[in-house]
Amino acid sequence: MTTTSTDSYLILGAGIFGVSTAYYLIKAHPHASVTLVDRDAFDADSRVAASWDWNKVVRADYADIDYCALALEAQDIFNNDPLWRPYFHETGVYWVCRDDYAQEVVNNYKKLGRKAELAAFPLEESRKMYGGLFEQADYTDAKEVLINKTSGWAAAGDCLRAVTREIIRLGVQYVQADVERLVFDEARDCSGVQTKSGENILASRVILSTGAFTAKLLEATAAATGKEDLRAGPRIVAGGIATGMVTLDEKSYEKFAAMPVGFQGYSADKGPFLGTLPPTPEKKLKWWGRTIFSNTQEVLPGRFVSAPPTDQDYAQWKVSQKLQDDVRYSARMFYGAPTATWKMEKLRICWDAFTPTGDFIVSPHSAAKGLYVATCGSFHGFKFFPVIGKYVVQMLEGQLDPHLQQKWAWDRTAEQLDSTTNPEFPRSELSDMLDAPPAAKL
Ligand SMILES: Cc1cc2nc3c(=O)[nH]c(=O)nc-3n(C[C@H](O)[C@H](O)[C@H](O)COP(=O)(O)OP(=O)(O)OC[C@H]3O[C@@H](n4cnc5c(N)ncnc54)[C@H](O)[C@@H]3O)c2cc1C
Repeated sequence: MTTTSTDSYLILGAGIFGVSTAYYLIKAHPHASVTLVDRDAFDADSRVAASWDWNKVVRADYADIDYCALALEAQDIFNNDPLWRPYFHETGVYWVCRDDYAQEVVNNYKKLGRKAELAAFPLEESRKMYGGLFEQADYTDAKEVLINKTSGWAAAGDCLRAVTREIIRLGVQYVQADVERLVFDEARDCSGVQTKSGENILASRVILSTGAFTAKLLEATAAATGKEDLRAGPRIVAGGIATGMVTLDEKSYEKFAAMPVGFQGYSADKGPFLGTLPPTPEKKLKWWGRTIFSNTQEVLPGRFVSAPPTDQDYAQWKVSQKLQDDVRYSARMFYGAPTATWKMEKLRICWDAFTPTGDFIVSPHSAAKGLYVATCGSFHGFKFFPVIGKYVVQMLEGQLDPHLQQKWAWDRTAEQLDSTTNPEFPRSELSDMLDAPPAAKL
């Protein structure tokens, strides 16, 4: 199937998957009708998108060679294209490894013929680096530290806003609307969406880039249309992670200003990797918690799906004491005891769509013609913002490399539905992370 300039595209969700897809579509087909729908204004002060954040790690340090190659391609754009360059900060990463990760990353760079200031260092030597910033970190069971000076971070929200502005300038129509469900024509092909206010927006191709909301949207559509096989089932699980920040005083800022991104890597039986990002220009140091949780809820009678809380803002600013403790734990794993007195601010729960293996879904939906899925960043999608849309367009045009077609397919093999070795797959429930109600006074 090839795309023609007369096709119309409706992209649901203006996170990195949706915006990047719109960017590559409008560049390839300047006269096509490309509409991007999101429940939030692209320049709103607060958005539910996982892609909307103060900062995100940008790295090609992957043991999986496909993501390593893709991330290098994205980083080349971050480094060289004036649209993206202002948002990338090449601070390096400091990755505490408890397995062979460092060697796998080094090997991948070699296999891809890429040179970078990238090496594994013994623990004693690395602890003294960066002015001893990570001296008090937790090194239990650690083997070595991977340092890649060419990795770093991006000012995520600013970058998302700037690229969205650019696609609007190029002709993409941005519509702020809450999508209730997908709609289908007489042939049962997907023909658009119905919004909460009852309006239908139609197009010949509909691309779902709705992040953590994707499974719930498909569930609602399956119930309304009787198209049972639209459901995501075990392919997609909405997962949340709490993040926190601390504003550094002038003296600490001097110490932290030139720091790399910090990581603590673990195996699946121990927990997800932990990360901390260098301070923003406002001197805010960020990190995320150690628990990734789903939020399984009865979305329709008898139908249980993990989805963000039903509040319009996903209740993202309501962070329980238990989750605050979870976030504080991570700070200690990087900076030790002094974090006990840190005043945490900007506590947020960030919701993303996870697949069992952490692989994206970039694929036609096999249950309906005209419907495509491009999302499931699985806690690592942001860094691909500058390139992922290129691959989504290849998928739309039937030109995606067969290996990636299989890796990112909607219809997954049993192996692709097995989360056993994926440390980042949600293994707790939000309900376990809520505070107990105060005891009744008799
Ligand atoms: C705490 C945390 C830290 C992370 N850190 C990193 C990192 O350091 N580096 C990295 O590369 N990745 C990171 N990620 C992962 C990355 O942020 C995500 O994988 C990526 O942003 C997902 O993009 P998306 O476009 O699929 O979804 P989103 O960015 O969530 O966008 C989905 C959009 O769909 C819209 N939407 C959903 N449903 C509807 C509806 N019914 N109607 C209208 N609009 C709708 C939402 O409003 C939203 O704007 C992190 C994720 C989290 C949670």
